[in-house]
Amino acid sequence: MAANNNILNYIREEIFPTAFCPGCGCGTVLNCFVHMLDKVGIDKRDLILVTGIGCSSWIPSPYLEADTLHTTHGRPIAFATGVKVMKPDKYVVVIAGDGDLAGIGGNHLMHAARRNVGLKVFLVNNYIYGMTGGQVAPTTPTGVPTTTTPYGNPEPPMNIAEIVTAAGADYVARWTTYHVRKLMHSMEQAMKKKGFSLIEIMSQCPVSYGKRVKLKKGSDMLRYFRDNSVPIQKTGDLTEEELSGKIVIGKLVDRERTEFTATLNAIVEKREKEVGTS
Ligand code: SF4
Repeated sequence: MAANNNILNYIREEIFPTAFCPGCGCGTVLNCFVHMLDKVGIDKRDLILVTGIGCSSWIPSPYLEADTLHTTHGRPIAFATGVKVMKPDKYVVVIAGDGDLAGIGGNHLMHAARRNVGLKVFLVNNYIYGMTGGQVAPTTPTGVPTTTTPYGNPEPPMNIAEIVTAAGADYVARWTTYHVRKLMHSMEQAMKKKGFSLIEIMSQCPVSYGKRVKLKKGSDMLRYFRDNSVPIQKTGDLTEEELSGKIVIGKLVDRERTEFTATLNAIVEKREKEVGTS
């Protein structure tokens, strides 16, 4: 992959080293994101980063060098929608976790996909609320013991990528932190889409999640991702039973619906012509 080795342009070097635990996948996501920015040649002045609360929210804030909005827990999509409406020509990127975006902020996520707001969402799914000590999340697999479900999670996990696909997103993909090249390529595709784009990135949290499923080291979880991922092209050959517990990776949808701010601005323009503007 051609790169200009200007990744330091996108990083706040003075903040390093990061506060991520050893073996955490957040560093991999950060690395993929800045290499993608460098490869595509995105001017950081055209980038607005929005995040919420959680370990993966540290990826944009404080480690990335661009205009950044660090918002309240579960609300980055709502804030980002406001930013995109006011700055439709900018790359408005949300990087945050599963608990933040799909748990607390699940309603915002679903409706942003339905509206096809031109956000780029990189949702880091580590299966749990990591920063706050390992509470059950809507993405936690059934049976896994967590701080708040000490005898095992009784709920089925949420399939985030399928939900936003059904809601109407233009671009949806799922990768893991093991598939770094594919992830970077997918990030590039997402950045180039006009409408709502989401990549669900399965990422290891050895400290708050891995130890509960006997995958105590980051490398254990990376091996798990390698051995349990199924490319979407191969799912047709497998039964539901064979797919149980597997991570379906690849591009789930890539389509072109009218982007929300384009529709909104057309309505505003039409109305201004009708009534005149001061
Ligand atoms: S608690 Fe988990 S997600 Fe958070 S920094 Fe540590 S390993 Fe990463």
